[in-house]
Amino acid sequence: MATREESHGKCSLCGVAYSKRQMLRHLSECAHPEGKSIAAVVQLRVDVPGSPFWLDVDVKANATLRELDDFLRGIWLECCGHLSAFEVGPIRYVVAMSDGFFGPDPNERSMNARLSASLPPEGSMFSYEYDYGSTTHLRLKVVAHRQAPSRRESVRLLARNDNPVWPCSGCQETASVLCAHCFSEFDAFFCDAHAGDHNCGEEAILPIVNSPRMGVCGYTGGG
Ligand SMILES: [Zn+2]
Ligand SMILES: [Zn+2]
Ligand SMILES: [Zn+2]
Ligand SMILES: [Zn+2]
Repeated sequence: MATREESHGKCSLCGVAYSKRQMLRHLSECAHPEGKSIAAVVQLRVDVPGSPFWLDVDVKANATLRELDDFLRGIWLECCGHLSAFEVGPIRYVVAMSDGFFGPDPNERSMNARLSASLPPEGSMFSYEYDYGSTTHLRLKVVAHRQAPSRRESVRLLARNDNPVWPCSGCQETASVLCAHCFSEFDAFFCDAHAGDHNCGEEAILPIVNSPRMGVCGYTGGG
């Protein structure tokens, strides 16, 4: 899934398009205007290195990692309720199996931790994984601590990548579906006509979605 050119996306707040690189500069003014400071938030860039998928969000500093987990599942990941974890340095934040029990690993903690108490400093990276079997790995970067206009939701979507265009393996026209069986081996994207010619059978054919979970575990799209 190599990206041929720099990914672009749209600012969710004003609707203007920017490149992945320009977006952060735009958001510093658009999402966090001076003089409208109410809620302390942490601005995060979420992406998957080597893929066109990325999100810019800000999250209330007093929200929990669990709330960020919910958001990521909703917009990008949820297929059938797999386990997930954040990794910040040596610490792994997971959902407790039962109250208060985290097994023998002293580096394991609850996702009920607040962002303000768990994230690394500005400019640092941490990671997230969804599904310990067919894992989707996300990279997260703490872009900045900011003040944002007040709002109800803990996580606010600031921007996301535009729908990537994938060429059909048969004819190079824009593909509409993929083969989940072949997807791990090659870019198994197809237009409707070539999907019909493909040997794996109808049940292997999935829609193309704007998510790094595309093609995995029957995922058909989220937010
Ligand atoms: Zn904007
Ligand atoms: Zn699944
Ligand atoms: Zn085709
Ligand atoms: Zn196939």
